[in-house]
Amino acid sequence: MLIPPHGNTLVQRVAEGAERERLRAEARALPALTADLDTLLDLENLATGAFSPLEGFMDREALWAVAETLRLPGGPVWPLPVLFQRRQRPRVAVGEAAAIRDASGRVLGLLEVTEVYRLDLERLARRVWGTDAPRHPGVALLYRKGPWAVAGRVTLLEPVPHAYRAWSRSPAEVRAEFARRGFATVVAFQTRNAPHRAHEYLHRLGLELADGLLIHPILGRKKPGDFDTRTILEAYRVLVERVYPPGRVVLAGLATAMRYAGPREAVFHAIVRQNFGATHFIVGRDHAGVGDYYDPFAAHRIFDELPEPLGIRILKVGAVFHCAACGGIASERTCGHDPRARTPISMTTVRRLLREGRRPPPELVRPEVAEVLRVPPPDPRP
Ligand SMILES: [Zn+2]
Repeated sequence: MLIPPHGNTLVQRVAEGAERERLRAEARALPALTADLDTLLDLENLATGAFSPLEGFMDREALWAVAETLRLPGGPVWPLPVLFQRRQRPRVAVGEAAAIRDASGRVLGLLEVTEVYRLDLERLARRVWGTDAPRHPGVALLYRKGPWAVAGRVTLLEPVPHAYRAWSRSPAEVRAEFARRGFATVVAFQTRNAPHRAHEYLHRLGLELADGLLIHPILGRKKPGDFDTRTILEAYRVLVERVYPPGRVVLAGLATAMRYAGPREAVFHAIVRQNFGATHFIVGRDHAGVGDYYDPFAAHRIFDELPEPLGIRILKVGAVFHCAACGGIASERTCGHDPRARTPISMTTVRRLLREGRRPPPELVRPEVAEVLRVPPPDPRP
């Protein structure tokens, strides 16, 4: 028996068969809105239930309830905006349907328009990201997408084309895989990075505690300087196929953009993993943080400050490092040695070594993983 989704029902708004053909024909006569890839990925996540209980893009009431109270109006906890933003006021009518298409003009979904409204972007940025600084990557993206929003329930007509389609799995598919393997408890591991030894430590923690481990890297937009998605997936494939016990790890991609919203994004990531059937979620130090915008442990504390606890259980993990005196990977909770014996493990260090043409040492990155890492472009200036 798997954990129920957030809000108890897995949203299913994917049109199929004759219904899909009928809607596709109807869509030709509808006003069309062209969406960027981030928004199209959200369309699919809404329709497949990854964002349950949301069924569409947020209206003003839902947006501000989420921003101010961390919950949907009259509903469960929800931490982040899910918006269909526009730079100009869109020419669609409330109460009617609109087609959602990609840049090539292909119609991928439908929107039942319930509201068209103007966003107070700076106020929203302050509430959700804790800053209105345009150099914050999450805030920059919010501003760039424009001050208008269209709200409404969506229907997906076609899977959204993207480069890593082969790695995408819907919540129903991942849940079916857990059921097939007989997993009742699953620890989910969110990542936007290639795996180093500290990540491995967390994977093993999950494998000790639960029936299975879901490694669920973000396939959507990341910031410049992060490893590219293909490299990340290849590096994880090495771990799953050559290191971890067969049958205990599910590796699937989550096609959604990083928002870099720190603690609120940690809650979002947890809820989404519950929708995929995970019972536990690992939250490390500075989860979904960027630069020094967030206290490294704010992403732990927020789970104790929510208006109600989530169904998924949160495994809070502190800083993980290599300790020469321990002779291996340890954490603040497991090592009592002098901090001078410890080597912090960070991808920033690994990327720097790679850029200098050096191999990261095996205490930082497993050699067979280091082999597949390609140097990403330099980190942008903060
Ligand atoms: Zn130690």
